[in-house]
Amino acid sequence: MKKIVVCLLSGGVDSTVAAVLKAKEPTTLVALLSVYYGQGAEQSEKRQSAVVADWLYHHFDSVIEHFYLRIDGTIRWTRRQRSARFKDPTGEEILLRGFVGWRHPEGGWSQAGYPSTRDEVFALMAAAGVEARLHDIPDTTEGEIVLATTGEDLFNFEDIEASTYTVHLNEVLARKMMPRRGKPMRIVLPLIEMTKAEVIRTGVEIGAPLELTWSCYFGEPGRPCGQCDQCKWRREAFQAAGVQDPASTV
Ligand SMILES: [Zn+2]
Repeated sequence: MKKIVVCLLSGGVDSTVAAVLKAKEPTTLVALLSVYYGQGAEQSEKRQSAVVADWLYHHFDSVIEHFYLRIDGTIRWTRRQRSARFKDPTGEEILLRGFVGWRHPEGGWSQAGYPSTRDEVFALMAAAGVEARLHDIPDTTEGEIVLATTGEDLFNFEDIEASTYTVHLNEVLARKMMPRRGKPMRIVLPLIEMTKAEVIRTGVEIGAPLELTWSCYFGEPGRPCGQCDQCKWRREAFQAAGVQDPASTV
């Protein structure tokens, strides 16, 4: 009897701790999924998620795969492009910032890294991987999609609610083929009761490689910006946890 788990792995503290928690479970197989979608620190996230995944491979036989998935696209400029006609109250033309408007730190957003429907999309894509493995690996009996959403995320982003995953998206998953054939799969949020400081303390307790993690949404490769919400929250969380940030360069 085996459980197959797909852990979303950005290479940040939360997803790294969640992946280590799952890798330590007996009779669980873990696949890792990192998604690239033009995020501000894409190169850094790509590098750090690979470093964390290599660490997990090295330490746990249960970790079997690491997937990269890329969501890419460009605007199709046409003569009938109409989005350029929007102006702010002073008459200045408004520059729309691509399909999602949250990649850039400037502009006065208090939450420049606002993820919109990102996590819901990622959870459902990860579920496709879980279902394929439930189908392909004979002795698997159930599947999990692991999101490292913390209790603090619920506070920082007003539109994140645990029930979005644990109720609504799980209802979608219950209708899929493998669950109908007796191999259930569900989204789990192992860190949802924790603050970021508690995640860090848990990470220290279980020996998660916090020194390999990357949190910044922007910044140069290998050098966090130190200014964005993610950098600020990381700094505050390590302080609150009473732990020296082993990856700190700012
Ligand atoms: Zn930053």
